[in-house]
Order: sequence, then C-alpha cells, then structure tokens
Amino acid sequence: MSETTSKGDKTLRAGGRKTLSIGRDTGTVRQSFSGGRSKSVVVEKKRRRVLTPGEQAEQNAQAAPRPAAAPAAPVAPRPQPAPSAPAKAPPSNRGSGGGASGNRSGMVLKTLTADERDARMQALADARVREAEERRLAEEEAQRRAIEEERLAKENAEAELRRQEEDSRKEAEAETRRAEEPAGTPAAEAQPTPAAGRATPSGQPAQPAARADQAAADEAPKEIRAVVRTKRPDAKPAKKTGGEAERRRGRLTVTNALEDADRERSLASIRRKREKEKRQQSGFSPSSEKIVRDVTIPEAISVQELANRMAERAVDVIRLLMKSGTMVKITDILDADTAQLVAEEMGHNVRRVAASDVEEGLFGDEDRAEDTSSRPPVVTIMGHVDHGKTSLLDAIRETKVVAGEAGGITQHIGAYQVEKNGQKITFIDTPGHAAFTAMRARGAQATDIVVLVVAADDGVMPQTVEAINHARAAGVPMIVAINKIDKPDADPTRVKTDLLQHSVVTESMSGDTLEVEVSALKKTNLDGLLEAILLQAELLDLKANADRSAEGIVVEAQLDKGRGPVATVLVQRGTLKLGDIVVAGSEWGRVRALIDDHGEQVKEAGPSTPVEVLGFQGTPSAGDRVAVVDSEGRAREISEYRQRVRREKAVARQTGQRGSLEQMMNQLQVEGTRTVPLVIKGDVQGSVEAIVGALDKISTEEVRADIVHSGVGGITESDITLAAASDAIVIGFNVRANKQAREAADRDGVEMRYYNIIYDLTDDVKAAMSGLLSPERRETFIGNAEILEVFNITKVGKVAGCRVTEGKVERGAGVRLIRDNVVVHEGKLSTLKRFKDEVREVPGGQECGMAFEKYEDMRVGDVIECYRVEEVARTL
Ligand code: GDP
Ligand code: MG
Repeated sequence: MSETTSKGDKTLRAGGRKTLSIGRDTGTVRQSFSGGRSKSVVVEKKRRRVLTPGEQAEQNAQAAPRPAAAPAAPVAPRPQPAPSAPAKAPPSNRGSGGGASGNRSGMVLKTLTADERDARMQALADARVREAEERRLAEEEAQRRAIEEERLAKENAEAELRRQEEDSRKEAEAETRRAEEPAGTPAAEAQPTPAAGRATPSGQPAQPAARADQAAADEAPKEIRAVVRTKRPDAKPAKKTGGEAERRRGRLTVTNALEDADRERSLASIRRKREKEKRQQSGFSPSSEKIVRDVTIPEAISVQELANRMAERAVDVIRLLMKSGTMVKITDILDADTAQLVAEEMGHNVRRVAASDVEEGLFGDEDRAEDTSSRPPVVTIMGHVDHGKTSLLDAIRETKVVAGEAGGITQHIGAYQVEKNGQKITFIDTPGHAAFTAMRARGAQATDIVVLVVAADDGVMPQTVEAINHARAAGVPMIVAINKIDKPDADPTRVKTDLLQHSVVTESMSGDTLEVEVSALKKTNLDGLLEAILLQAELLDLKANADRSAEGIVVEAQLDKGRGPVATVLVQRGTLKLGDIVVAGSEWGRVRALIDDHGEQVKEAGPSTPVEVLGFQGTPSAGDRVAVVDSEGRAREISEYRQRVRREKAVARQTGQRGSLEQMMNQLQVEGTRTVPLVIKGDVQGSVEAIVGALDKISTEEVRADIVHSGVGGITESDITLAAASDAIVIGFNVRANKQAREAADRDGVEMRYYNIIYDLTDDVKAAMSGLLSPERRETFIGNAEILEVFNITKVGKVAGCRVTEGKVERGAGVRLIRDNVVVHEGKLSTLKRFKDEVREVPGGQECGMAFEKYEDMRVGDVIECYRVEEVARTL
C-alpha cells in the first residue's frame, strides 16, 4: 500500500476511530489493542473484518448521521453477489456483535447484513431465474434454428411444447429452492440446478479470495470485482449454451426422438447431461474462441483486403507490420510472402493462390509416350552483339526459301521453319537473349537447341559468356557456330580454346559440343550447321502429341493497324485450329486466322510450328504461354484474373524503387514489356539528336526505346519529376544534374546515368533491352567545389582557387569541370593543395587550390565535380 493511501486512510480512520472507540468502550478486545499508537491499525483491522457497507456506513455516519439509509443503498442495487452474502455475513456478525450489540455501528452492521442477506437472497433467486430464462432462450434459439434448417414444422411444435414443459419445471425448481434458501446452507443450495451449481462453486472460491484481499485493499472495489467475478460465469453459460446447442443441433435433429426421450426421463438425467456439457465447455480455452480462417492470399493484396479476408481489423494488421518495422497504410499492397506472415502471425491458415489456381487444368498433363510423335527442333541463336546472329538467321532463311520455294516471299513473323533432308527445323527469329529469358521466366521452354554464334575474329566476348550461362541454366544443349570464317583474321582455334575456359568443350577439343565453322556473309557451310542441328535433335528425341488441344508460346506480338493484335505463336504440342478459343497471358481471343511464315493462311498448326494468330482481343506479350480453352467464359475468367494479378503486381512494384535500368531489365524478362522509357539531356542539340537517332535505330530491331523527353542542358528537377512519373531512366550526356535534381532523384528513386560516349550509352540501353547488362559502372558523387579565382603560376600553370561547396574533394578521384551544368572537361587533378601543402582531401566549406592534368581552361564560377567510379560486375 502506498504512502498516500495510508495517509488518506489515516485521516479517515482518525475520524472513524473516534466513533468506534466511543461505541466500543465496553469491548475489551478493542481496548487492549488501542493501548499504543497502533490504535488506528487495530481499528482498520476490525473494519476489514467487517463488511464494506460497514465501513461505508461509518463514513456515511460521519458525514451525515443517516445510518439506515446509507448502508442500504450500496447493497440493494447489487443484483449478483448473492452467493457471497451468506458466507460474508457471519464473520461480520461475529466480529461486531460479540461485544456491543447496542452501539451504533453494530446496529448498523446488523441491520445491514440482514437487509443485505435478504437482498442477496432475492438477487440469487433472481439470478437463478434469469439464468434459467437465458438458457431457455438460448436453447430455444438453437433449437429453432435447427428445426428451421430441417424444415420440420411438426417436430418444431413438439420441441416447443417440451421446452415449455421443461421451463415450467425449471421454474418450479427455482421456486422450491428459493423457498428452501433461507434455511439451507449456501453449500447445499449450490446443488439443486446445474446452473446454480455452476455459479456457486465459482462464486465461492472467489469469495474467500475477495475477503483475503480485503485485508490489503479497499473493500468497495473488491466487492465490485467479486460481483464481476460471479457474474462472468453467468454470462458465459448464456453465450456458450447457444454454441453448445448449436453444436448439438446436428445430433438433436438427427435423433430428435431420442433426445426428447432423454429429456423426459428425469430431472436428474437432465442435470447430469448439463453438467457434462458444462465440463466440456470449461475445457475450451478462451483463445479457441478466436475464429481461425482459411485465408486465400494472392500474389499481391492490399492491407485492407487482407484484413477483410482474415476478419481482422486493418489497424491490427498495420500494427503488426509496424512491430516488424514495416510502415504501411491501409491501401498499401503487400506481397504474398508478407501477407502470409501476417496471416500466420494472426493465427490463420494461409492458402496461397498462384495464377495456376484459376488456371488449373489450363495446360494439360504430360502426354503418354504412345500418343506422341517426332517434332521439329526449335532453335534459338544467341551470341555477342555483332557476331552475326541476324546475318546467320537471314542467311539460313534466304537460302532455304530460295531453294525450297522459288519466288516465295519471306515474311518476318518472329520465327520460321526451314527444311533440310526432309526434316524441318524451327528458328526463333527474335534477336537477343530477351525472348529466351522472358520465356524461361514464365516457366516455358520454347527452345530445344541454342546455336551460340561466336565471331572467329573476335572470340569469346561478355555476351557470349552470358549466352552460355543462359543456355546452361535452361539445360538446353548448345551448338557452337564459329562465324565470319571468311575474314582474314579469323581464328577458329582461338574461339575453341576460349570456350574451354567456360567449360564448353567442342568436338575438336574431344568434347561433346557440336561445332560448325560458318560464314553468314558468304553463306558458307550453312548446311553443315543445319545438319548439326538435326543431329543434336535426333539425340534429344523430341516428341509431341499433335492430336490434342494446342499449347504454345508467344514469340512475338504487336498491334497491327489493319489486322489488330497479331501474335506469333509457336505451337509446342497439340494442333492449333481456326476457331479455337485461346488464352495468352492476360489476353484471350478466338482464332480468326492463322498465317504461316510464308505469309500464307493455314487452317491449323501442329507442334513446333510458328504461326501468326489473329483474333486476340488485346496484344499479348512475348513469352506468354498460350492455351486453348473450351469456352469464352473460361477464357475471360482467366484473362481477367491475370489482368488483376498484373495490376496488383504493378502497384506492389511501385511501392518499391522504380525506374532503374536493372529493374527495367527484370521487367522486360518478367512482363515482356517492350519499351524502355528514357529522359535524355545532352550538352548540345547535335548530340541529343544523335542519341535519339541511335536509340531509334536499335529500337526497331529489339524493344523500343521510349524517349519521354529530350533536351539540351543540365538535368533539372522537372526532368526527374517527369522521369518518376513515367518510370523512366534519366540519361545525361555530358551534362550533370543540379543539386535539386540530384536530391529529387534520390528521393524518387530515379536512376540517372551519365555518359560521354554515345556508343557507351546505346550499348547500355541495348543491353538493357536485350535483357543483359554489362558490368555496371557505378559512379559515386563525392563533392563539388566552386572556382573563386584562377591563378597563373609559372612552371605549374593555371591553378584554380576553390571553395568546397558540397561533400568533399579527394585527390585521385575523377573530376569534371562543369560550366552551367554542362561538362566542359573530364579528367584528373594534378594537384590538390591546402595553403602550401599537398593534401589527400579537403572537406566541405574549406578553400583549396586545384589544378587539372593537361587542362587549363578553367574559369571563375565553374564547378569542379569530384566523383568515384567503381565497376560492379553483374552476375547472372
Ligand atoms: P548481330 O548483332 O549478332 O545480329 O550481328 P549482325 O548479324 O548484325 O552482324 C554484325 C556485322 O557483322 C554486320 O555488319 C554483318 O555484315 C557482319 N557479319 C555477319 N556475319 C558475317 C560473316 O560471316 N562474315 C563477315 N565478314 N561479316 C559478317
Ligand atoms: Mg542482330
């Protein structure tokens, strides 16, 4: 007990003690106790033994001498403490009644307890009646529901009757008990009804506890607590009986007659049954009352939706995420993993749905071996830029078209078939690794064989290695085509030895990788290449079932002005027919026309056949898997689901960093996006035009560079805003971003790349487009210094007197001289001086002297930018 309370008590007691001592001058016990300073303690102890109302009465008596009215007040309105009354009253009677029955407090107490007891008896009886009533109601409710469900009107009537009988019986019981109560012991009265039996045992243990507590705490609150305690079991049965009845409902309705017989058997049997039920009920832990739900979690879900599905409050979800350090809003989208964690943390069962759940059965099972027959191999040509992929594809096509069907017009549809020795070979004509990886990312393997083109004069290059890794990761066998052997500096042996370093052992190096020396330009040994492909195909024993609904993959797709969406589909198994309802990615359609690689309309396309499909509602993406479904409804359902998933994913992605070249690359692979949005700023109009032109050129061949904006001058904040809005990368050609722009870029997560060679720029964009990024040149801004003065020092040359305005300046680091946000020089420092001393670095705010290596044209007001460059090798 704290000091403040004891002080407060003392003042009270000081008043109360007087009254008591006056009233108790005959009580020996009290006097002997009040011999010393411990008087108040004694009084307190006494009072503690006495009932709450007693103390209150004392206080009340002190405040206003109305002994009878005051104590009655707190007792009478209390409806529930019924069981406690008998247990409580005796000690209080004994305590005060022992000495002075005539004193005022004693009188008060006596009257009180009598009153109280009566009131409580009444309350007890009331409670019992109410409890019975509640149970009856609950049972009635449950029963009614059961019966409604069964729609057995007759039984309903019977049950109703029976229940009424029971009710009256119960009421009679209660009546009897009430009559017995004053005479009976509290323990005895606990027995009659299970309901009372339940209330009393729990009430009784609570009572002594409450009394013990009284020694330490104020009585009134305790009393209330006791009430609460006794009330709680009351409330529960009412609730639980409902649940119980519900649970029993099945049994009840099925064996209704039995149940009824049971009911009519005897009171005792009912009581036993109830007790049994109650025992079962008490076996439930409160936590099990929480409803565990099966929560279906898609790949992206909003906080609100997740909360709804769990039937939890969204704030709780947010709070939970906050605890784990994630700040989210109710509208934020969570990825499936996070959502699953949340749901599991909240005790729900998680069911993850992948697109495949809606798409279940979209792609058929494996075909039985006896249903399959040989199919042509599907070949993808890969290799480093300019090693001759396109030339080789063109050479093969031309040769074969010319040889095979004279006068035939070749049409580029993204894939074509050639024939060699009566056997067909399908080439995928989409250059770069993008298509290959895009397809792989969707779990679709279109390619059976990779032809790795290596220029004999150039040897193994970074993208050659990438291609090797791609093929290897996909588990696709490779054939090495050593190209450009017509060139005088061609060195096929070097290519082969280079390949060894990457564990590609060609036949001539006694390995098992087929190799062919060709010249795409001179069309040398193309037959040799085709033969090698057929040989490899034979080893692979490629088979497919042509006699089933078609499945395939989108190799290329675009929106044609006249024809609408056109998708080149490589049929992988089954046969695609006119009129088929197809689904590809989030698009669907009914096949209106099929056009083969010679531009001819066909009625159907079998395994390994590339064919243009007309009739899609929207344009699917390269890499989308194609399936035939049996109804438009199904097709719509799947496409709508996929569109939703895509939207959700897009939103989820936006919450992360956007607009990095790398991310765009991933997007290309995953989503098949065919544009790379860019904001281009250059130093002069000429260079901007050159860049736009160069990007345009590479765009036609591969994916499109979408130039959101281009202009002359430094990169400004509005450039960044624009880039952020369109998820673009900002490219600075010989220009820099100003401070606000740099900050905005950091804030919005917009990637900026600086270039000073157009070739580097196009190379990077090209690489991003083809799904590959060369080692990243990561530049870190270190600091800026402003030129305050330029000195001409003999023998040394021009030295700039600067102040470091931002960050710091380091010797060894790269520097650029920037005039009006345009880079006028790029190079290294020859000196960095503070006063007379050469220093390693100069911190911000300080002045220093700087000189460039081999450059002198600096001017007052120029900014010297200091940066560090590191090459970050990209790993696959
Ligand atoms: P890609 O980037 O891999 O598609 O390479 P291209 O097919 O565009 O070829 C790049 C350059 O190499 C073009 O100028 C071709 O003319 C040239 N080239 C391709 N194959 C050969 C070849 O066999 N011999 C020679 N001398 N040049 C070739
Ligand atoms: Mg090419």
